[in-house]
Amino acid sequence: MKQRISDKEKLKVGIVGFGTFGQFLAKRLVARGHQVIATSRSPYEDIAKKIGVDYYQDLDDFCEEHPEVVLLASSILSTEKVLRSVPVQRLKRNTLFVDVLSVKVFPKQLLLRELPPEVDILCTHPMFGPDSGKGSWVGLNFMYEKVRIGADPKRERRVEAFLKFFRDEGCNMVEMTCEEHDRQAASTQFITHTVGRVLGTMQLRSTEINTKGFEALLNLVNNTNNDSFELYYGLFLYNQNATDELERLEQAFDTVKKQLFGRLHDIARQQLFPTVDSQGNANGAAAVPPQALPPPREPLALPSRSREGSDAVSQAPSDAYSKTIDV
Ligand code: NAP
Repeated sequence: MKQRISDKEKLKVGIVGFGTFGQFLAKRLVARGHQVIATSRSPYEDIAKKIGVDYYQDLDDFCEEHPEVVLLASSILSTEKVLRSVPVQRLKRNTLFVDVLSVKVFPKQLLLRELPPEVDILCTHPMFGPDSGKGSWVGLNFMYEKVRIGADPKRERRVEAFLKFFRDEGCNMVEMTCEEHDRQAASTQFITHTVGRVLGTMQLRSTEINTKGFEALLNLVNNTNNDSFELYYGLFLYNQNATDELERLEQAFDTVKKQLFGRLHDIARQQLFPTVDSQGNANGAAAVPPQALPPPREPLALPSRSREGSDAVSQAPSDAYSKTIDV
């Protein structure tokens, strides 16, 4: 059983965007003893009731409930529209706005631009989701930046009370700027999702002889393909570092492919054009001009060619190639 918080620590959290991730957070907040209300585009009354959340389809009604914390959990692509539709004037003047978007510079700039100066802003990214955080959250990373918190100590205490929820769940709390987050997330989270989606597209299947490595890949596919494509697209579109990382991934794939085909072509060339010494013996060294060859590689464990090599000179190229494929 989780330790529930005291009444003094209890927060009234209003979640805007009650989809997969909003519900996932709501369950844990309620289990800890916080009061949670929610609003979303779709009707979620029944689900909310089961979780112990008061649901308000109407945004005015939601704001008039005066949540101390408004937690934005809408999709990355819809957040600007969603934020603009919140009647902020119906909230208390010093409300704390928190976002959990998987990209960070975009919401930071948006919240600073759209919200009145008296509103506090905390940008966060729980680095896990309903699949990877299904059980315990112990050791899972939670990134945050206190973007704008008023000078009143009460406001600082409220931010700390909100962060304490994740700390108490065992998260590894990482304070970092949104800019640094996006730099690091492009080469970690975005690449993870991209590889997961590529492998998901290949429709890998579990077999009777799975290796641990292959099972790790199947897990990756599960953990990434259950997220909405909209989320993945948001990671790409709203993180300016993502395009560079995608290109680096593509180049790396090409490099590895070239290494494979380069070695295969070396073997084919050696079989097609063995050099012949002054006595007329073929020694298997390639006779193509040195500048046409790729950089030297590790010697290959090829079958001895002292005798067979002379036969190979007279072989048709297609035959030589099929021998190479056997290697
Ligand atoms: P998502 O597809 O990114 O977002 C779904 C939410 O966005 C739902 O609440 C949905 O509302 C709302 N939404 C979508 N389009 C909308 C529109 N045009 N107008 C109004 N609302 C709209 O999936 P998610 O997994 O729930 O993620 C929510 C947020 O959490 C995202 O910003 C994501 O980056 C962040 N996050 C997700 C994870 C994760 O593992 N899933 C982890 C960390 C952070 P309705 O359901 O009412 O239609």
